[in-house]
Amino acid sequence: MDKLDLVGIGIGPFNLSLAAQLDGVADVFSIFLEQRSEFAWHPDMMLPGVELQTSFLKDLVTLTNPTSKWSFLSYMVGQKRMLDFMNADFAAVPRREFAAYLKWVADHLEGLAFDNVVREVAFDGQDFKVRTDHTSYVTSNLAIGVGKPAFIPAWARQLPKHKCFHTSQAKSNLPKLRGKRIAVIGGGQSGAELVEYLLGGNVKGVEEVLWLSRRDNFEPLDDTPFVNEYFTPGYADVFAGLPDAYKQDLMSRQKLASDGASLSTLKSIYQLLYRQRYLQEGHVAGRLLPQREVFQVQQDGETMRIAARNGLNQDVEFFDADALILATGYETTLPEFMAPLRSLLEVGASGAYRLDAEFRAQWDGPSDRNIFVQNAGRIDLGIFEPQLSLMAWRSAKIVNALTGKNVFNLDQNPPIVDWVAGTGDRAGGAVVQAWG
Ligand SMILES: Cc1cc2nc3c(=O)[nH]c(=O)nc-3n(C[C@H](O)[C@H](O)[C@H](O)COP(=O)(O)OP(=O)(O)OC[C@H]3O[C@@H](n4cnc5c(N)ncnc54)[C@H](O)[C@@H]3O)c2cc1C
Repeated sequence: MDKLDLVGIGIGPFNLSLAAQLDGVADVFSIFLEQRSEFAWHPDMMLPGVELQTSFLKDLVTLTNPTSKWSFLSYMVGQKRMLDFMNADFAAVPRREFAAYLKWVADHLEGLAFDNVVREVAFDGQDFKVRTDHTSYVTSNLAIGVGKPAFIPAWARQLPKHKCFHTSQAKSNLPKLRGKRIAVIGGGQSGAELVEYLLGGNVKGVEEVLWLSRRDNFEPLDDTPFVNEYFTPGYADVFAGLPDAYKQDLMSRQKLASDGASLSTLKSIYQLLYRQRYLQEGHVAGRLLPQREVFQVQQDGETMRIAARNGLNQDVEFFDADALILATGYETTLPEFMAPLRSLLEVGASGAYRLDAEFRAQWDGPSDRNIFVQNAGRIDLGIFEPQLSLMAWRSAKIVNALTGKNVFNLDQNPPIVDWVAGTGDRAGGAVVQAWG
């Protein structure tokens, strides 16, 4: 096979966005490889009624390429349900709808190859060699978009799989849940969706749900205008230029901007608890346990004994459950297939890539050989990075960097907020030098 300009590894929303943005760009020869047999977006968390936490206009292309045929609205029109969709007036789009849109793009876009697990990427000093089970590809550039593996806390690693599983395997495992008491551990959106589902009486035999979280409370995603400024190219540029030491601290203060539960899910949980307690509706009791940092789980016969430290008074408390669901999020690691390149890559404190503002991994290789990485730059580039919000902009940036041309005009108006004096050439901004 001839040498390619780009091999994309993984086809989730992020590399799908890149593939869609590359559609029609002349003289870029690419292929995108995916291990699944067809496109699927977090299928094991596709519970009934779950909603997108982002506007549908933040789709694969629209932010930078609104006339692309791969937009959400183009999909809607193609499905002949645009007016019905408008009349339905969803406050938030069903995730199932957005997943169907993504699959429609993946089914129709050229240059995507499913059933292709990438096993190894090597570099011969000039080009990358990408090996799958079936064949190998030679390419000048890579775009890695393999998502993140589930984070399993150390205390959960030895527990039997039928008694303890991660939310990323929820739908496959929920029907197998045996036991009356289920503990959900983790206070983000996935945990909230599972708690809502279980309290709603959707799993036979469950009588009690314990929801443990080390967070101060079960708090909503902050979706207000100035917080949403974090998800703009203007803020992304400012963040990328900050000193490393400051980024981590700043990001921890922005947690609820990207990592809270949807208000609608929290309201629904509260109402389920109310109905259960006061109106004798529903048969699943709920026990909400914030401020609990789980540090040990011991199995005693069929019972799982959970030890957690209470952040309010530092007491160690114990809770019994029959099964655990880990809503403990995802981690950023270097994929196995990158092992041959490990010694050439600059690796950050988290053990993952260091990325520059063009989403290129920093590495000891020729400057015209790029390893673009998506969904691995939260620490270097900010909280927008693992979210859908700016994927169309990021893909456009990658296309520009890959081609060395302004395929997409990414000029922006000055941000509404003056994050640093002089942001966006605004008149009147003055840079004041701090006294040493
Ligand atoms: C349940 C859930 C809901 C979310 N909802 C929202 C939301 O509403 N709004 C928002 O902004 N963000 C949301 N996110 C966060 C983020 O948008 C998603 O995680 C998104 O799917 C990330 O896209 P991705 O392409 O990086 O990774 P993924 O979607 O994980 O896709 C990666 C793909 O790479 C493939 N792959 C992995 N290894 C290989 C290999 N070796 N060879 C070939 N293929 C491989 C995988 O099979 C997979 O298909 C959500 C996350 C979750 C978990």
